[in-house]
Amino acid sequence: MKLREYEAKNVLKAAGIPVPVGFLIRSAGELTPRLGDLGDALVLKAQVDVGGRGKAGGILMADKADGVAVAKELFNRKIKGLPVKEVLAEQRLDIRHEYYLSITIDRSSKQPLVLFTEAGGVEIEITAREHPELIRKVVANPLMRDLPPFMLRELIGTAPKEIGPIINKLYRIFIEKDALLAEINPLVTTPNGVFAADAKIIVDDNALGRQGITVNRDLSEREREAEKYGFSYVELNGAIGVIGNGAGLTMATLDLIEYYGGKAANFLDVGGGAESERVMNAVRLVASVPTVKVVVVNLLGGITKCDEVAKGIIAAGISQKVIVRLAGTNEAEGRKLLSEKGYEMLDTMDLVVRKAVEVTA
Ligand code: GDP
Ligand code: MG
Repeated sequence: MKLREYEAKNVLKAAGIPVPVGFLIRSAGELTPRLGDLGDALVLKAQVDVGGRGKAGGILMADKADGVAVAKELFNRKIKGLPVKEVLAEQRLDIRHEYYLSITIDRSSKQPLVLFTEAGGVEIEITAREHPELIRKVVANPLMRDLPPFMLRELIGTAPKEIGPIINKLYRIFIEKDALLAEINPLVTTPNGVFAADAKIIVDDNALGRQGITVNRDLSEREREAEKYGFSYVELNGAIGVIGNGAGLTMATLDLIEYYGGKAANFLDVGGGAESERVMNAVRLVASVPTVKVVVVNLLGGITKCDEVAKGIIAAGISQKVIVRLAGTNEAEGRKLLSEKGYEMLDTMDLVVRKAVEVTA
């Protein structure tokens, strides 16, 4: 789950990384009594979950005199379609140079990877594409508490030495917060020292419990519901809903949809041994996406019994068309139940997928 900028900055601050003086407001009026804390020049930053927020108009510069009016303007804006509900009001920094610093997991070496470049501020993806030689990288052994001085020198090069301790503080945050990403972009130099002007921390979803985070804000309501039932569920943007059992069969169904030129709206893996109620919940969840025109149920009956699946499909009673392929335990019973209710059941996965693609074409 991604922390918002102000949350990430609180984490940085607690770890001793300098951040600009600032506070969160939920309306322009909340700024008035505290304006005095921010000096003459301020920055107002919309706390919306979009990349490139600055370019999209989510960051406004203001003076003490017009701060409240500018805040009002920002609260009335939509940033890439999202309403602005929270704004971080900060003292404006007198920026001399913008650097980029991040720590993430390098999947090939299976270790934390620290990236630093003097070309900060802009999107790192662009630097990586156009000037990869400007990005310096080191891989840190996760058993180390700190990066040793030689690694810090390798990263920082001729940039100010004060950045060294900041890298180590961010590295400890990365480990302690079970982060998948800890990023400061830009890390800036000013006449008053080095500051984190922006911050992003993504906490590993598998560690939310340990981190005391009870609600994963990054999940849609439907994804949260799926989590509650223990379904593996992913949303895409086509018109075919997909239910399978086991990751392999579910992925194969998706591949076949692509192969025949269709687009899946989502897919759900019900897991093994699903009873009728579980199947009913799965069908309803998949069909609750407004773009779903047809639902493909592709289940293999091993421990899962086909008659239970059929009962679940019938109990779900969704308005969209359901096309079923069931094979295995109690197949004949399942087929009988479904055909009595007028559901379409085809013999192979190839046939159900072709039919679904045809319906949505
Ligand atoms: P992002 O667009 O969401 O990444 O937002 P950032 O917080 O990284 O800000 C984007 C850019 O706005 C930075 O790279 C800076 O150039 C500028 N900016 C942000 N805060 C300040 C500030 O306090 N002073 C000045 N002069 N510029 C700032
Ligand atoms: Mg930024």
